[in-house]
Amino acid sequence: MENFFDLIVLGAGSGGLAAAKRAASYGARVAIVEGSRVGGTCVIRGCVPKKLLVYGSLYGEYIKDAESFGVTFSKVVIDSTVLLENIRKEVDRLNQLHIEFLSKAGVELFEGWAEFRGPNSILIKGLDNNHEQKEIRGRHILIAVGGKPIRPEIEGSSLAWVSDDMFLLKRFPPDVVIVGGGFIACEFASILNSLGTKVTQIVRGTKLLKGFDSELSNVLRDEMQAKGINFKFGESILGIEGKANDLRIFTSNSHSLKCSGLLFAIGRTPVITNLGLDRAGVIYTKDKIEVDAKNKTNIPSIFAIGDVTNRINLTPVAIDEGRKFSDWLFGDKQDSVNYNLVPKAVFSQPEIASVGLTEEEAMEKFGKDGLKIFRTRFRPMSQALPKRGSRCLLKLIVEKKGQKVIGCHMLGEHSSEIIQMASIALVKGATKLDFDKTMALHPTISEEFVTLK
Ligand SMILES: Cc1cc2nc3c(=O)[nH]c(=O)nc-3n(C[C@H](O)[C@H](O)[C@H](O)COP(=O)(O)OP(=O)(O)OC[C@H]3O[C@@H](n4cnc5c(N)ncnc54)[C@H](O)[C@@H]3O)c2cc1C
Repeated sequence: MENFFDLIVLGAGSGGLAAAKRAASYGARVAIVEGSRVGGTCVIRGCVPKKLLVYGSLYGEYIKDAESFGVTFSKVVIDSTVLLENIRKEVDRLNQLHIEFLSKAGVELFEGWAEFRGPNSILIKGLDNNHEQKEIRGRHILIAVGGKPIRPEIEGSSLAWVSDDMFLLKRFPPDVVIVGGGFIACEFASILNSLGTKVTQIVRGTKLLKGFDSELSNVLRDEMQAKGINFKFGESILGIEGKANDLRIFTSNSHSLKCSGLLFAIGRTPVITNLGLDRAGVIYTKDKIEVDAKNKTNIPSIFAIGDVTNRINLTPVAIDEGRKFSDWLFGDKQDSVNYNLVPKAVFSQPEIASVGLTEEEAMEKFGKDGLKIFRTRFRPMSQALPKRGSRCLLKLIVEKKGQKVIGCHMLGEHSSEIIQMASIALVKGATKLDFDKTMALHPTISEEFVTLK
């Protein structure tokens, strides 16, 4: 039957693309439905354009240091218009590449918004959400529709940006207020600050980056502050008025602030409304679609992976869930996703990265006497001549009885690259002695991890 598939995937983001291509590799007839752009959050409005902004913004920092290495510039112009335009071109290239990958894999792409008609039936609404409707049917349906940024329901909130909007701007304004203390807020604060925008970051709580080791997050706050970011903790936004590029915001501490732009980075929520889940009988809450270890919903033909299931909302996790799902359904393989020891990074300036338990989590599990914490802070050699910039923090958390390294945390240059490799050691169950027995590679920052006393 022309419109009947073995698998229909809803959403061509990290998880959906991975699942669709893997299923097709087993010979399944696969359709994928995408309402926006193929590539999803990561490629179009997340990890990729964000990391390119980070790279772009770091040049400002390098230039500040250059003189101490004997490199002087007669004129430095930071033009975010060029940066944003070039990033959009790269995103277009990747979007096209992913469309080609689908075609090569034999996956049929339907452009439009998907809505359930029943447990095996999907209505695809044209991209303008109404015209041209088409119904397709599937033996199995995989929901991989991801999440979207939260915009608070306060007066004037439509005047503010969410992270999606940042990649569509023509240029970054001279001053911006960022609301939120999570990774997206810290990353944008650092990017904009390094590109010459004056940044005020308003955080409702008392610390940055819930879920990260407190020492790491406190040092990051101090370092970001030293780079010129103005923090306001224990404060939230009550209302916004004005017009584009000329806003006035009102905060819970009776402050009124003027700014050119306001970014809400206060969290993300799964894309659950408008999917017609009730028509298919799928059980969900406002925070997630509930699935079991095999990604099954309560309806036997319907499955869900990625951010919409709100487990660990990261691209590599969504990809792994997608591939393992198709391996199981079409390849009869039983491997499941390992949610332990998922490394994570914040591409702030300085960068931080972690794998394993934080000091607080380890303390709760093993008690103060059951742990040994090793740490060091130092100025990296790259900053020896400029004599400025962040000092690195490296930290190992070791369970005393078995001497196993249960947490590895770092702040400073290349920390994401270093922690990615350290993750292998933790996954293999490395002990402190294994770290000690490893020969140092000198002169590097990461050698400090194998010489910690
Ligand atoms: C600013 C930002 C930075 C990030 N940085 C990182 C990072 O550095 N590292 C990292 O690992 N993760 C990062 N993430 C998180 C990462 O992007 C997500 O975890 C990942 O993209 C989730 O993949 P997914 O497949 O679940 O959903 P998505 O990638 O969000 O894909 C879902 C797709 O479904 C489509 N869709 C939605 N509804 C429908 C519908 N009804 N019909 C058809 N299509 C639909 C959407 O348009 C979208 O293309 C970042 C996220 C953001 C926002």
